[in-house]
Amino acid sequence: MVQVSIVVPCFNESEVLGVFHETLVTALEPVGATFEICYVDDGSTDRTTALLRELAGAEPRVRYTSFSRNFGKESAMLAGMRMSRGAAVVLMDADLQHPPEFVPRMLELHQHGYDQVIAQRDRAHEGALRTALCRAYYRLVRRCMNVEIVNGAGDFRLLSRRAVDSLLSLPESNRFSKGLFSWIGFDTVSFTYENVQRAAGQSKWSGRHLLNYGIDGLLSFNSRPLRLAIHTGLWLFLSALLYALWIIANAVLDGVETPGYATLITAVVALSGIQLATLGVIGEYVGRIYDESKRRPHYVVRETDESPAALASGLS
Ligand code: UDP
Ligand code: MG
Repeated sequence: MVQVSIVVPCFNESEVLGVFHETLVTALEPVGATFEICYVDDGSTDRTTALLRELAGAEPRVRYTSFSRNFGKESAMLAGMRMSRGAAVVLMDADLQHPPEFVPRMLELHQHGYDQVIAQRDRAHEGALRTALCRAYYRLVRRCMNVEIVNGAGDFRLLSRRAVDSLLSLPESNRFSKGLFSWIGFDTVSFTYENVQRAAGQSKWSGRHLLNYGIDGLLSFNSRPLRLAIHTGLWLFLSALLYALWIIANAVLDGVETPGYATLITAVVALSGIQLATLGVIGEYVGRIYDESKRRPHYVVRETDESPAALASGLS
């Protein structure tokens, strides 16, 4: 059995892929463990697929799967984990933002009995606004979810075989790895490393992507946001009731006063905002139920050097 599988999702990474592969192999060879590298091409439109085909042809330790279109990093990581055969699996990005030098350290910690080893990015050098937004988001998530997720802990981590198998046994189609990693439990340890810039190419995360990813994270774990919507609605209803009573009392005691346009409009706008938000929250859950009920596969494979059996499991 292979000791370590490295799972690498790649989407249009032809600019860094060669350098990444070399750095990774150089970092792994001195460790002395047997390893394999599972590349997953997430529907790249550049030369990534061709490069992977070449790499896999030249090196038996390299295996790859290529999707028919871009299915997103979560799906690519899932495919990579399904491909992996190692006793330990390391998930990492192809852009060298997850420095391969840290893999030996992760393996060492794994030897000490940890099932999950997280390499945590130090956010100290990021922009102030981004840091503040991230911190606020993690606080909100911690409130809403019953699993703990750590700021700066991305997908750069080592998982033991049993941790990977338990991840793979989770049936949901809407996968939010950050939450799932923590949901499966097991002994976890983390260490921090200084954040590095991407070596070449461009980040695939726009602001809109991040917002959607954030919403996924909040909603994928439980129905607490729905509860929050109900609470807000009830409190608003109560204050509106008190306000109405006050107006009636006023009218009875002092007679009717005409102006009221401002308050009226404010109330209408505020309430319709809350209603829309609440409807949105409910709609999100209904949409998720719809998605899950379709039971579609997470990805479609275009080409791979895997056996037909492995391919079939990817489609299940
Ligand atoms: N990635 C992917 N599919 C996507 C977007 C990204 O497989 O749809 C891969 C990408 O090739 C890289 C990793 O996920 O290896 C992280 O992406 P990126 O560097 O763009 O994200 P960032 O580091 O900016 O968060
Ligand atoms: Mg990156």
